[in-house]
Amino acid sequence: MARIVMKFGGTSVANLERIYNVARHVKREVDAGHQVAVVVSAMSGKTNELVGWVENMPKVAGSNAPFYDAREYDAVVASGEQVTSGLLAIALQSMNINARSWQGWQIPIKTDNAHGAARILDIEGADIIRRMGEGQVAVIAGFQGLGPDNRLATLGRGGSDTSAVAIAAAVKADRCDIYTDVDGVYTTDPRIEPKARRLKKIAFEEMLEMASLGAKVLQVRSVELAMVHKVRTFVRSSFEDPDAPGMGDLLNPPGTLICDEDEIVEQEVVTGIAYAKDEAQISLRRLADRPGVSAAIFGPLAEAHINVDMIVQNISEDGSKTDMTFTVPSGDVDKALKVLSDNKEKIGYDVAQSESGLVKVSVIGIGMRSHAGVAASAFRALADKGINIKAITTSEIKISILIDGPYAELAVRTLHSAYGLDKS
Ligand code: ASP
Ligand code: MG
Repeated sequence: MARIVMKFGGTSVANLERIYNVARHVKREVDAGHQVAVVVSAMSGKTNELVGWVENMPKVAGSNAPFYDAREYDAVVASGEQVTSGLLAIALQSMNINARSWQGWQIPIKTDNAHGAARILDIEGADIIRRMGEGQVAVIAGFQGLGPDNRLATLGRGGSDTSAVAIAAAVKADRCDIYTDVDGVYTTDPRIEPKARRLKKIAFEEMLEMASLGAKVLQVRSVELAMVHKVRTFVRSSFEDPDAPGMGDLLNPPGTLICDEDEIVEQEVVTGIAYAKDEAQISLRRLADRPGVSAAIFGPLAEAHINVDMIVQNISEDGSKTDMTFTVPSGDVDKALKVLSDNKEKIGYDVAQSESGLVKVSVIGIGMRSHAGVAASAFRALADKGINIKAITTSEIKISILIDGPYAELAVRTLHSAYGLDKS
């Protein structure tokens, strides 16, 4: 007997037929004697529709009332998950499974006060554990909790992944299965490189990098949480036949296991290639090379909530002037340039130049820690294809390379084969 949390995303519960199919996946685990809790997203497209309603409410002409109240946004937007949790409980009951739906406030899943992007602070797991012990399946609405103001709070888009991992940690589950419309995590985006392979295992830290670099399988926060609480998390498909051979395998079900690196015996040097589109580069020319310039630049940008990523500072030739280059999301470039020009006197630079439409391609793998020359092979491979590198940053387990947008796909494929990821 194991304790399993199963999470189903929006496409997996998109209509009644799919919800019925989800119930069959749950039944398989219940019939195998496991204790099960389920977390559901809203039907696909539902949350977008609800957000649209909130945003498009007509306003009194000339009113300067706030755009909308974040508490009421949460009240509306959390409803999608309420519907699917109830419907799945009904489907399970029709299969003679003892099931009950739960909203975030009923458990309660306690969050902070950041309505619309709340963080989970605490989950009271005892009652759910007791019911699981009595054979009841808890069907829990994802994406929502209860704020300190005693009101519904939602966890930010994609937040039901985080609900699932947090619940898995709270009930000390053996495994958290994230069912989605893809059958696992791949070495790179299969739409760009058809030779991409599904990974059997990936370490938490690697998945964190993949997720934050645009591999949109999981909400980044859920991976952080899984890493902290060491929740063994499985990414797998809900579209396979629930009763196909191997689907109920406790140790090796089909999919990708995200786990502690100690569990990965045959560690490759490089695990995957990720990319992030719509990056922009800003260069400040002829800055005074003195203590405090970086603070003068990045302080005001941070205050304006602009997310700065790669930062490269040149060594000055004469010890007095230098150049600083950094990247921001393309959508923030005008705002960033405005902040910089407002602070031009204080920072003390000559000109600010910018370029949008760039792409950051990253090579990820914990094996890099113990292998030399990983970066050099990336640079060689890109050079052979005539791809120009605009900036580079590295960490212990990642090399990120900034290039011109049109070369993105070629760069991804080039790096994917340079590290032999297309060979099984
Ligand atoms: N339904 C929410 C969203 O679309 C939460 C989720 O699906 O994870 O963002
Ligand atoms: Mg999702």
